Amino acid sequence: MTKADQTSDPNGGAKYINRLNKVKVLKIIRTAEALSRADISKISSLSAPTVSRIIEDLLDEDLVQEIGEGESQGGRPPTLLKFSDRKNFIIGLDLGTTNIYGVLSDFDAKIIAEIKTPTHVEEGFAGIMKRTSGVIAELIAEPSVANKRIYGIGMAVAGLINRKRNIVEFSPDFHWHNVDVVGALSKTLPYPIIIDNVTRVMALGEMWYGLGKRFKNLICVNVGYGIGAGIIINGKPLYGPLGLAGEFGHITLEKDSPVQCDCGNFGCLEALASGNAIAKAARQRLLAGERSLLLDACEGDPTRVTSETVANAAKEGDPLAWEIFDRAVEYLGIGIAGLVNLFSPEAIVIGGGVAQSGDILFEKVRKTVQARSLNKISSDVLIRPATFGMKAAVMGAVSLVLNEVINLNHNQIRVPVPVQAAEQQ
Ligand SMILES: [Zn+2]
Repeated sequence: MTKADQTSDPNGGAKYINRLNKVKVLKIIRTAEALSRADISKISSLSAPTVSRIIEDLLDEDLVQEIGEGESQGGRPPTLLKFSDRKNFIIGLDLGTTNIYGVLSDFDAKIIAEIKTPTHVEEGFAGIMKRTSGVIAELIAEPSVANKRIYGIGMAVAGLINRKRNIVEFSPDFHWHNVDVVGALSKTLPYPIIIDNVTRVMALGEMWYGLGKRFKNLICVNVGYGIGAGIIINGKPLYGPLGLAGEFGHITLEKDSPVQCDCGNFGCLEALASGNAIAKAARQRLLAGERSLLLDACEGDPTRVTSETVANAAKEGDPLAWEIFDRAVEYLGIGIAGLVNLFSPEAIVIGGGVAQSGDILFEKVRKTVQARSLNKISSDVLIRPATFGMKAAVMGAVSLVLNEVINLNHNQIRVPVPVQAAEQQ
């Protein structure tokens, strides 16, 4: 084996082992409040000199900071260390069809600045990219980040994301086919950019900053305009060979359904239980002449009914709104019962616009899951709202970059080459 082989050999080259040890130490430091070098050596089973060497590196890279002295065990008091979460920054973006929502966050998920601006889908790809760049530029200009490092930009996008080619293969919400969001934004932004599907991003955020601190197996179900699932098994997100795993909304729940889904199939969960499905069903019933509080809520114009107006009218006891909402949520519960049987997760987290309706959704889902799944599997499953509510996607986008930093991949994320420079080559 040549020397070059050794350094890239995943089975034991010295450089590779060093890197693994460094990741191990960084993960230990991140999950604790304050540790001494001796504590880290004990927890990691690495020798004291190895830990000291790694800590020097991490201090140089500003990923770890010294925070004073601990209690003496007889000799000189040890210096305590912690993860350098307040000095380093990440930009997280939730690119939705209604709003572009961006935050500037430190490594501890503390939001330093946030901006929300309407997406204006009708302006097309170029227009949306221009607005997105504007949001990022404004966040970068935040005075408290001056002269500090922004590690990268994480983005949540609704649609099928090809992680290998780094493109959006298909997004029915935006009407996009094979668009290069990263390439378009890189023309003006010299930062690493990572994109992923919005639901998987929400699940990652939950894993890094929310319930993931307690559980290693959890599923995040996103119920908004559409429905998707981000599946975390043993602390790792499930991608599948094409990066497309988790299309929970497109399982068929009604084989003879007349309701067609955006995907072309009939009777998909998404066509029966998404925000879009709830609004559509209500519109149809109102246009057919049925009476309901919903008509007042939309000022007599059924085309203005949204899933939120249906949920609100249902809470006020309107029979039509209740029937539509309750039926949709029952289908959601049946779908989730299937996820529980298949994956036996410790927790199911439900986020997205429709989940903001609260108890009216969660009570029915919990009851349906108990009734429709194997009791031995479902009896201890926690079913609850996403930790960050409507911020779930944007905090997940931040965690896309943090994940790379903790695994020390951040220097290997391709910093996209600005187009002009590339053309000159
Ligand atoms: Zn479908």
